[in-house]
Amino acid sequence: MLTTTEKKQAGSTYVNDALAMIRERDGHEPEFLQAAEEVISSLGTVFDRHPEYRTAKVLERVTEPERVIQFRVPWMDDFGEVQVNRGFRVEFNSAIGPYKGGLRFHPSVTLSVLKFLGFEQIFKNALTTLPIGGGKGGSDFDPKGRSDTEVMRFCQSFMTELFRHIGPNTDVPAGDIGVGGREIGFMFGQYKRLANEFTGVLTGKGFHWGGSLIRPEATGYGTVYFAAAMMGVINQTLEGKRCIVSGSGNVAQFATEKLLDMNAIPITFSDSGGFIHDPDGIDREKLAFVMDLKNVRRGRISEYVDKYKNAEYTAIDHALDHNPLWNVPAYGAFPSATQNEINGVDAKNLVSNGCKVVAEGANMPTKPEGIDVFQDASDVLYGPGKAANAGGVAVSALEMAQNSMRYQWSREEVDNKLKEIMQSIHSQASDAAQTYGSPGDYVSGANIAGFRKIADSMMDQGIV
Ligand code: NDP
Repeated sequence: MLTTTEKKQAGSTYVNDALAMIRERDGHEPEFLQAAEEVISSLGTVFDRHPEYRTAKVLERVTEPERVIQFRVPWMDDFGEVQVNRGFRVEFNSAIGPYKGGLRFHPSVTLSVLKFLGFEQIFKNALTTLPIGGGKGGSDFDPKGRSDTEVMRFCQSFMTELFRHIGPNTDVPAGDIGVGGREIGFMFGQYKRLANEFTGVLTGKGFHWGGSLIRPEATGYGTVYFAAAMMGVINQTLEGKRCIVSGSGNVAQFATEKLLDMNAIPITFSDSGGFIHDPDGIDREKLAFVMDLKNVRRGRISEYVDKYKNAEYTAIDHALDHNPLWNVPAYGAFPSATQNEINGVDAKNLVSNGCKVVAEGANMPTKPEGIDVFQDASDVLYGPGKAANAGGVAVSALEMAQNSMRYQWSREEVDNKLKEIMQSIHSQASDAAQTYGSPGDYVSGANIAGFRKIADSMMDQGIV
């Protein structure tokens, strides 16, 4: 097994040269830089064994999107006022299939955020074993507080430009933060009207118009399956374990549902305003309340404590150097809100309060210093988002397969495939970590296994 210093020195010339080039080229894109550094710095041992990747300049090519589309999204609000947002689609890598990745509608969306998400998506999609390339898109539009008709007008305007760049064999977007079933429906309707064809151009569709069963559940369920797979290695289960979940959207809700299926005890939810802690545990009735609150009434998580009096709500205090959510004692942590939600202090708080398993439902929720804390704690199992949350895109690819066949599988069939895929991702990450000298390191393992598939496919296809 390699020491940390040996790992850092391995392949260091190419790794350092590539990192220097990206810092120079994309230094103004902090989120993309963070994601690229995390992947590239774990690949040193690969370049020692495969110098041909350097000759073919694979790193230089894989860090540059194949195409970036940016466009204006004008629309009219309910008061007759014209609004203008910015739309993007980053078509990052098509080495193993059509671009695939979600659309995010959130005021924090920038090109840097979408490039980080698109870059992660390339390797995540390769790990699913399914033929899908990497992409991501979205807008700085904020659906919160907007009426359904405003959201519809925005989605129609967004798709009026995007439709010419996507297609079932070119680029197949899905949902992400701020884009759920409602938004996918409005965008699908507009695509169909413009392209004059009913085709699997988006995933996350409603079941009656081409969607897959289990797609809404897939990311959250998959994250918990991945945690269970990591715990299986040490003959442990989630049964009876208290677990922190952050977020209260799609991923958080279905991670909670699967934790309940596994007889674990979820105790928290959060949103951008703060978090609730329910020491009695969040049971199915309370989860149904949260689903109605967030998905139908579109309310805030603080309302939970009006109904469940034993629970406590803590508002986010941005002046603090940590988020007290991660100070709640628990065995498992399932960050499922957004990027960089766990810093070094939060990670230390989790570990010192007895946390033994972290499975990331969100993309890049842990800052680099937090990842170091988890990896230095010898008894913490840490599943990075790239591996742990790949269930969502995997079932999206199954939705594409069903659309191509014009057929729909049962709930059980899709769930069984999802379980198998999460097991396979676990084995690929674990085997690659072992082969390249870092047993038990799921970060290196996932990066190496995903990268090797992409790099070999790019080499096969020549200099494109
Ligand atoms: P949703 O929009 O359904 O929910 C997002 C949740 O996170 C909400 O509770 C939201 O609170 C909270 N949140 C968003 N931004 C912030 C912020 N800056 N600070 C604190 N809380 C925040 O999104 P999803 O559940 O779909 O996505 C959650 C995460 O999972 C994201 O990182 C996404 O990229 C990742 N992911 C999602 C997949 C999917 O299939 N949906 C697939 C793979 C990964 P509020 O309501 O206040 O905004």
